[in-house]
Amino acid sequence: MSSSNKKYDPPIPGSVYIETYGCQMNLVDSEIVFSLLEEHGYRRVESADRAELVLVNTCAVREHAETKAISNIGHFGKLKEAGRQVRVGVLGCLSQHAAKELQQQLPFLDWILGPDVYRTLPSLLAQDAENGPQILTEAPGDELYDEILPSRREGINAWITISRGCNNFCTYCVVPKARGRERHRPVESILHEAHEAVEQGFVQLTLLGQNVNSYTHDGSNFPELLAQVAEVSGLKRLRYLTSHPKDCSEELLRTMAEHDTICPELHLPVQAGSDAILKAMGRRYTSEKYLHLVKMAREMIPDLLISTDIIVGFPGETEDDFAQTEQLVREVGYDDAFVYRYSVRPGTKAALKYEDDVPLDMKTSRLMRINEIVRESGRARRQALIGRTVNVLIDGPSPRDPNEGIGRTFAGHMVVVPGVLTPGTEVAVTINALSGFTLRGTSFLNSLRTPV
Ligand code: SAH
Ligand code: SF4
Repeated sequence: MSSSNKKYDPPIPGSVYIETYGCQMNLVDSEIVFSLLEEHGYRRVESADRAELVLVNTCAVREHAETKAISNIGHFGKLKEAGRQVRVGVLGCLSQHAAKELQQQLPFLDWILGPDVYRTLPSLLAQDAENGPQILTEAPGDELYDEILPSRREGINAWITISRGCNNFCTYCVVPKARGRERHRPVESILHEAHEAVEQGFVQLTLLGQNVNSYTHDGSNFPELLAQVAEVSGLKRLRYLTSHPKDCSEELLRTMAEHDTICPELHLPVQAGSDAILKAMGRRYTSEKYLHLVKMAREMIPDLLISTDIIVGFPGETEDDFAQTEQLVREVGYDDAFVYRYSVRPGTKAALKYEDDVPLDMKTSRLMRINEIVRESGRARRQALIGRTVNVLIDGPSPRDPNEGIGRTFAGHMVVVPGVLTPGTEVAVTINALSGFTLRGTSFLNSLRTPV
């Protein structure tokens, strides 16, 4: 093997690279793992090339995410075989959900760790590698990583997890199984983290939970928590994800309307527009209730941006059921939507109870039909901003042209502004064009400073 070893530069001692798939929760979890490892002398690197330790934080929500992660992990197996010295661990929902399958398919792995056992990592790393993957998925069930401040790097936004797990058991969803029962962090600890993040220079915070509306701790509910975080001194913008429609209250909408740091943005996954399908999904609201909520929210919060998640091709979804989803999507007039084809998740109620009877090509055509409706409404809602002067918080330079800045309106629409602008600054921008979903405008600041 000595000749093949020469192909690779030796790994950087103590270096760790994490590849993250899936939702924002996973991004935060990766930051938590970095934080845990940095405390034990590890150093974060931004590429797997010479990392001594590679961790892949996986998602199991849809089959596609799963196969993509497995094939990418397989790549590290080939490197190992070819003589590259690296230790590889799989983290996240897939580890929890399919540890045995991973062990069989990827025997070169060193560890398979579920989302609640990351504290054990430093001690596992100190041990000699076992033969074959070491599996640790026994969830203690109450892990919150509460006092661990995530190791954040770039950008203007800090994600803050307020709860972990989910109790909703939507029939298609693997999250409650992969991440366990819902538990909530104490208010003081969330506030502490919020203050720290703003002090470190993050001007925007986003509170995270699978269903933030069911947050409760020592008598405080989510609107109360949100109101307290909104008061953190120095904070410019506060967002949150995700709101389950069955629990989204008038009190929450009022709190949003009353605080000028809380962004007028509501990610309100509807999943389907047919009551029969919503019932089969176990969502516990009707399309009428959802539309009522949207109407109330729009009345209470000016310029509200509403986005959603939709699953097409759920078992039993007829053309008529789907037409109801189309109708609802038209009626709401979403700014954005994430549309997914139903994917069977082993072990879920839907997988056990229903047949995956909508053919793939029909799922795809339904997905395209919804995307087309959202494209129209999304463009119309952005078009309505043309001619208005809005406050844009700059994220950084545009990836396409470093002489342009990219940022977001208070609601969250993306805007490109000419000029080199400091990330984290707010500029007044007059919107004058729309291309695709991207708005363009000129800033007052920019008219005073010639773009470099
Ligand atoms: N907790 C959040 C979302 C979690 S998963 C919520 O309830 O809104 C993110 C999205 O993935 C879901 O909103 C749903 O649209 C989609 N999703 C979840 N399970 C899926 C499955 N089995 N097939 C297709 N899409 C799925
Ligand atoms: Fe999954 Fe439903 Fe929980 Fe969201 S609310 S994570 S879709 S079970």
